[in-house]
Amino acid sequence: AAKRAGRNQRAWFDASMERELELRNEIELGLRAGIPSGRIVPWFEPQIDLATGALTGFELLARWDHPDHGIIEPAAFIPIAEESGLIGELSMSVMRAGIEEARHWDPSLLLSVNISPSQMRDAWLAQKIVKLLTETSFPAERLEVEITEAALFENLGLAASIVASLKNQRIRVALDDFGTGYSSLTHLRTLPLDRIKIDRSFVLRMTEDAEAAALVRLIVSLAQGLDVPVLAEGVETGEIAAMLTAIGCTMGQGWHFGRPAPARTTRALLAGRGLLSAASPIARDGEV
Ligand code: C2E
Ligand code: MG
Ligand code: MG
Ligand code: MG
Repeated sequence: AAKRAGRNQRAWFDASMERELELRNEIELGLRAGIPSGRIVPWFEPQIDLATGALTGFELLARWDHPDHGIIEPAAFIPIAEESGLIGELSMSVMRAGIEEARHWDPSLLLSVNISPSQMRDAWLAQKIVKLLTETSFPAERLEVEITEAALFENLGLAASIVASLKNQRIRVALDDFGTGYSSLTHLRTLPLDRIKIDRSFVLRMTEDAEAAALVRLIVSLAQGLDVPVLAEGVETGEIAAMLTAIGCTMGQGWHFGRPAPARTTRALLAGRGLLSAASPIARDGEV
């Protein structure tokens, strides 16, 4: 009878739901083991000054270097890390690895890091980041924390105090995925933001879709009105880059300039442009 009940219960799930649940558990277990053993690795995407074409820094993007499945993109594991309470540990460990790498770069280059909504519920977030900067002796001015519009406005009181603590420590703050959430213009004006990042979903379509282009234009003029520099993500073509420049957007990142790449590739790129730190042993040895 027990067996039968078991079978009946199974009918609640169809096979695909069950498979999905298994996969989810497999990913969670994999992350629990993979985070402390350094399998979540930093990749870097170049950020560009659109007027001069100069490299201004990189956004750190986590990748899971899986022993069986190779490189896995964040969409497959960040949401699960978020749900299972692993995201704080994941983000801090990949941030540490990213900073260790950025120490080898020219000091003019910024490192932008992503903060997830649940990290913004941690009243100690700013202190944790400051501790990491102290331990790695990385200059606060070179670190930019990207907070999504949704995470910022979920709990504005706590978010504003985290932003204030970061700014007190001279850490930069950017508003990520702008245009996808519900920013209050009043609050936007009072937050000390160093830049606004336009979500790639609008930028990607702006040369084909008049509405997307109108939205990008609106965000650029809003940012100009607030006197906050604006960066477009998802710049996939030269045509998009030209259009952005024409409407007054001053910074961009995307496949047109370079895809996210691992540390070694990024170092080789910087070495080629003379942008490794003179103090770095890597630069001295010329070994990349
Ligand atoms: P995001 O911060 O909005 O990151 C930008 C995403 O846009 C990256 O995806 C990047 O690969 C992608 N992208 C950049 N340029 C282009 C382009 O020209 N075309 C297209 N189609 N896509 C482009 P990725 O690396 O898959 O990251 C996705 C999201 O994962 C990020 O969105 C970020 O929210 C999250 N994430 C990544 N690393 C971390 C991390 O270490 N911690 C946390 N908390 N979240 C992370
Ligand atoms: Mg991607
Ligand atoms: Mg980001
Ligand atoms: Mg974004």
